[in-house]
Amino acid sequence: MNKKLFAIFGNPVSHSKSPLIHNSLFRELEIDACYTRYLLDDGGGLKEKFFELGLSGINITIPFKEDAFLACDVLDDYAKNIGAVNTIVLKEGLLYGFNTDAPGFMASLDGFLPKKAIILGAGGTARAIAFALRKAGVLVCIANRSAGRLEFFEKADFRTVTFDMLDEAEQFDLVVNTTSAGLTDEELPLNEKKLMRLLSNAKLAYDCIYKETSFLKMAKKLDKENKNGLDMLIWQAVFAFEKFVGIDSDKRMLDVIKRAVY
Ligand code: NDP
Repeated sequence: MNKKLFAIFGNPVSHSKSPLIHNSLFRELEIDACYTRYLLDDGGGLKEKFFELGLSGINITIPFKEDAFLACDVLDDYAKNIGAVNTIVLKEGLLYGFNTDAPGFMASLDGFLPKKAIILGAGGTARAIAFALRKAGVLVCIANRSAGRLEFFEKADFRTVTFDMLDEAEQFDLVVNTTSAGLTDEELPLNEKKLMRLLSNAKLAYDCIYKETSFLKMAKKLDKENKNGLDMLIWQAVFAFEKFVGIDSDKRMLDVIKRAVY
């Protein structure tokens, strides 16, 4: 049988840890496959490129998750609701699309189930997390700097608020930062005083960025449980791998990924 080829499509894509994760798993599980990265210029050409490269499956990162959604023939429920796909698998000539960011986020909570959560930011990651939390019965509020991106959430019957209208005295046991504030700078996602109040009332402060941001530093100063986005990255990869190779994940697979990324 020919070696199967997988890839991550994105732009930029050089920073992605996905090749490291998936190649470690292929090696450890002795699966004859290889995973590479591909810098895609045009999201509209995603499907054509998939077939041209002879791929068996891909992950998709910024900014092509919506193009990937449009390219698929069959979608899972999360992908349908969220409108974005981060994993595609080829089966009998059809492209099957999945969103593994959503279950990946839930798995990364490691058993912690909040009653009430606030998500800061209203982009693609916020969509995945909002649907995942709602599916688990959590009351979710989406807060964003500007109103435009909140429309999607209003249509999907989520509670929404802009940062300037946010009542920071309201209690949320989970505060998730999905904004890109802190990704390449020391910015906080929202006004320091408001964030300090929100975090003071929280049980867990979660930043989807996988490094120590100013948001997480503030949570630590307040002596709050806190988490960066590394476990979400790991779990979305685990669920994508399950789709790629058709086997369920186990502890050994998790250990392999952790060894590769930590
Ligand atoms: P999007 O570009 O779709 O959304 C970005 C959001 O951030 C918008 O709501 C935007 O608000 C807000 N924002 C941007 N800059 C600021 C700022 N300076 N202050 C306040 N709000 C700001 O991004 P994604 O949802 O795709 O990704 C968001 C983050 O999540 C990224 O940092 C990414 O690295 C991380 N991520 C982590 C993953 C993981 O596995 N750990 C998986 C996927 C993403 P506005 O609408 O007002 O512009």
